[in-house]
Amino acid sequence: MKKTSVSYVSEFNDNYIWLVHVLSKNKAELEIIIVDPGDASTVIRAIQEQIQPKAIFVIHHHCDHTAGINRLVDKFQLPVYASINSIIPKVSHPISHGQTITFESMGLSFQILSVPGHAQKRGDN
Ligand SMILES: [Zn+2]
Repeated sequence: MKKTSVSYVSEFNDNYIWLVHVLSKNKAELEIIIVDPGDASTVIRAIQEQIQPKAIFVIHHHCDHTAGINRLVDKFQLPVYASINSIIPKVSHPISHGQTITFESMGLSFQILSVPGHAQKRGDN
C-alpha cells in the first residue's frame, strides 16, 4: 500500500498551496496533486527533479486559488479539476457533489463534496 502525505508551501503572506503526494511505484519520484495554486512560481520552486505533478485541484474561483493555473498547465500539461459550475480557467475535468475521482497510478480516490464556504452559493465554487 502506498503512503500518502500532505504538505504545503506558503504563498503570498497569508495563504497555502496544498500538495498531496505519493511515492511512485518504482519509488523513483513523488507524484503530487497541487491544490489551489494561487502562485505558479511558489509551486515551481517547490517542485524538484524527482517530483512529478499529476493534477491540479481547485476549490473555488478566487484569484489566490487560481492565478497560477495557466502557467502550471502550460509547463506541466496538467488536468485541472474544479466544480462543474465554476468560472475557473482551464478546467479539464468539471466535477460535482457526490462524484468520486480516482487516480489509479497514485492509488488514491477522492469523494467530492460541495462546500460553498465564502464563495457564494452551493455549486458556485
Ligand atoms: Zn476565496
